[in-house]
Amino acid sequence: MVKRDRIVNEFMELARIDSLSKNERQIADLLLHKLEEMGYVAREDDAGVEIGGNAGNVLCLVKGDENIPSVLLTAHMDTVAPGIGKKPVLENGIFKSEGSTVLGGDDAAGIVSILELLRVLKEDGIKHGDIRIVFTVGEECGLLGSKAIDYSKINAVYGIGLDGAGAVGNVTVKGPSQNTIDIEVTGRAAHAGVEPEKGISAIQMAAYAISMMKLGRIDGETTANIGIINGGLATNIICERVNLRAEARSRDEIKLDLQTKHMKECFEQAAFKFGGSIEFMARKEYPAFSIDEGDQLIAILKNAAENAGINLILKATGGGSDINIMNGKGIKCVDLSVGMSAVHSVEEKISVADMVRSAEFLVEIIKAMK
Ligand code: ZN
Ligand code: CA
Repeated sequence: MVKRDRIVNEFMELARIDSLSKNERQIADLLLHKLEEMGYVAREDDAGVEIGGNAGNVLCLVKGDENIPSVLLTAHMDTVAPGIGKKPVLENGIFKSEGSTVLGGDDAAGIVSILELLRVLKEDGIKHGDIRIVFTVGEECGLLGSKAIDYSKINAVYGIGLDGAGAVGNVTVKGPSQNTIDIEVTGRAAHAGVEPEKGISAIQMAAYAISMMKLGRIDGETTANIGIINGGLATNIICERVNLRAEARSRDEIKLDLQTKHMKECFEQAAFKFGGSIEFMARKEYPAFSIDEGDQLIAILKNAAENAGINLILKATGGGSDINIMNGKGIKCVDLSVGMSAVHSVEEKISVADMVRSAEFLVEIIKAMK
């Protein structure tokens, strides 16, 4: 049986540890220790070296019955800033930070659900298939840990992430692909007062391009944004160079390509009109994913939700997470909401009741996989 007190104490213990992205050493050590104490062989991969952090991903294989599908369970160890000196406070059944940092329930709550599941599986003698635990580093700074995993060593039919905000029972089954785009717009410098005719303003070129660009919500599954623009040296110099950083996302890869192409064409047209030049570099951050309504994994979730008395809501997201990467590697993954809210802010909170339900739901999911 899932135990409330154990969840409260473990959350307190984990959320107190500072674990900003690339600084997950302390929590990684604690999790390695906890898994070993439970009698499992846990190891750390070399992602830390690869991404320039002080810890790697923590991986653990819990052997099970080979006639039951194998499953990967994942949560991330890092938190966003402000996350130094975290002090979780429990008030009327709700965890909050003491006010100056995030709580770090994103994603300590997910880790706690997984650890509680492992204890319950042992205590209650629940049958299960192979369970692969993956606690990642660097999720919040670009899914770096999950990108660095050697997936050739990870066989899992299904994947369950525990990193969703919102009420327990919300399950993300569709997510977008994202391109990050760097653009350099180059004109020609000239004295703005003496001979402006000789200059080509990169600022005007960028402005012209952006004025023609479709941005914001493009359609039901596509978004685009120019997030950063930098350039210019002085008012008396025609600006020679502007650098921009943008993104486009879509749950449809073709629409993502079209939007990215459209953004490029706007800059090209501006360069043509003004006689300058542009460099446009788009790189894929992560692939889109979509789990079909009729998939066996959805049937398992429905079954588990019913047994746990949880209202199942299948939803799409506009964000990206480790789940995108793992789906891209061929593991069929969904992301469960663990009850956290106001994430990435000092107002972040989560109720103990939700954490208990999250663990109960996870236990039922494992039970339903047969
Ligand atoms: Zn998260
Ligand atoms: Ca997050």
